[in-house]
Amino acid sequence: MTRRLVIIGGDAAGMSAAAQVRRMKRIDELEIVVFERTSRTSYAACGLPYLVGGYVTSPDSLVARTPEQHRARGIDVRTRHEATAVDVNASIVTVLELDTGMRSALHYDELLIGTGASGILPRWPGIDAKGVLQLRTLDDAAEVERLIVAGARRAVVVGAGYIGVEVAEGLLERGLQVTVVERLEAPMAAVLDADMAAGVAGAMQAAGIDLRLGTAVTGFTVDGGRVTAVQMAASAVPADIVVIGLGVRPNAELARAAGIGVGAAGGITVDDRMRTDTPHVWAAGDCVESHHRITGQSVVVALGTHANKQGRVVGTNIAGGDALFGGVLGTAITRFKDVEIARTGLTEREAAAAGLAAIGVTTEASSRAHYYPGAQPMKIKLVVERGTGRLLGAQIVGGAEAGKRIDVLATALWNGMTVAEVAGMDLSYAPPFSPVWDPVLLAAGKAAAEI
Ligand SMILES: Cc1cc2nc3c(=O)[nH]c(=O)nc-3n(C[C@H](O)[C@H](O)[C@H](O)COP(=O)(O)OP(=O)(O)OC[C@H]3O[C@@H](n4cnc5c(N)ncnc54)[C@H](O)[C@@H]3O)c2cc1C
Repeated sequence: MTRRLVIIGGDAAGMSAAAQVRRMKRIDELEIVVFERTSRTSYAACGLPYLVGGYVTSPDSLVARTPEQHRARGIDVRTRHEATAVDVNASIVTVLELDTGMRSALHYDELLIGTGASGILPRWPGIDAKGVLQLRTLDDAAEVERLIVAGARRAVVVGAGYIGVEVAEGLLERGLQVTVVERLEAPMAAVLDADMAAGVAGAMQAAGIDLRLGTAVTGFTVDGGRVTAVQMAASAVPADIVVIGLGVRPNAELARAAGIGVGAAGGITVDDRMRTDTPHVWAAGDCVESHHRITGQSVVVALGTHANKQGRVVGTNIAGGDALFGGVLGTAITRFKDVEIARTGLTEREAAAAGLAAIGVTTEASSRAHYYPGAQPMKIKLVVERGTGRLLGAQIVGGAEAGKRIDVLATALWNGMTVAEVAGMDLSYAPPFSPVWDPVLLAAGKAAAEI
């Protein structure tokens, strides 16, 4: 009898794995059945803020592969099917067909859990009102679009993390009056040190965003089922649309209920081959914990870049190959209008929390030779271990061409380099691309001199 791989979750991790298995195994060697509770597969959630902003005009363009396209490649995708339980002793997944209410069970030889993560939604009064939403799916983006077309003019974004900042830009771009409410003292304060986050706050305010920092939302005013205002301790802001962007939690409940190991950070525990602690059960993507290469801790870093890589790794392993996921550094990039924001590794605060003696060294530099048109300023902060000079992390906030420089620093970090070694690296130079001392080299040289 043909062996069967069952995959729960048909987006980045699940479908990367399915595609990789199919590259390595024919249908008669390994059948693949994917249960996906929505009606879509393989769509780029990362593009949603740019869809809202009108930079991307076609929702369909965010779909990398439709269910039909997957089926044509020999992957049995069953959309609108929600996996409700896993019996690891009998190797069975129980499934609810959402359109008919029918329940069924399917045997697996190998099981991959790729259930992703869910947005954090506090139990604030009024949170269920119409007009209060998250931006996690194409349907969410369609609802934002519908509200804008219907005349929404005032938007409030709750939470100034990556998604909050991106959505705020998108809504501003569409001509809405935008307020961003953030409990912490700076935007992106969970991923940047305060001195670097200040540049982001300045850019948001300069663009016309009403930025309410150090302010906690307490609930929503609702009229006729629709949100009309966001309430805070001492004030309220009128709102036609509210987008909540408070971070995510791994969807690990199905695994936990089945007795599959879940770690302290809330994600499914996996090894570097993406095996769970249960035989023949694998997991990948936003639902798992990953090994942090600097701290050695198990962390949840919900990013598409990891979900795709982990999907490829787990697919290779399920198909009988041998691939390892090398861990994460938390490298990430975004932008607010013309300001690019990027980070990798540890911030100063995270280094201290990990018990590492570190200093932060900040350098101001230019993206191109000072005499070449279009040169943009940028700030690079390096976090460096005292004594050894080992690079622990980096943050960049600056104009065009600043952000992707983080990848050079991430490469150095990945390979355990010291800032003195980074300062001596052979990086490219010509006036339209960088000063003769690239900002990365300048920053590393300054840090090497200061430790
Ligand atoms: C607005 C936004 C912007 C983003 N921008 C970036 C970015 O710029 N860069 C970046 O690296 N990452 C970004 N991300 C994160 C990235 O989209 C995710 O890390 C990635 O989608 C995770 O893939 P996944 O397959 O693990 O999970 P998901 O994409 O969440 O897929 C999980 C799938 O499982 C399905 N599912 C869950 N439970 C069940 C069940 N019981 N039965 C059946 N199906 C189930 C879900 O419906 C879902 O389709 C962004 C995310 C959002 C929302």
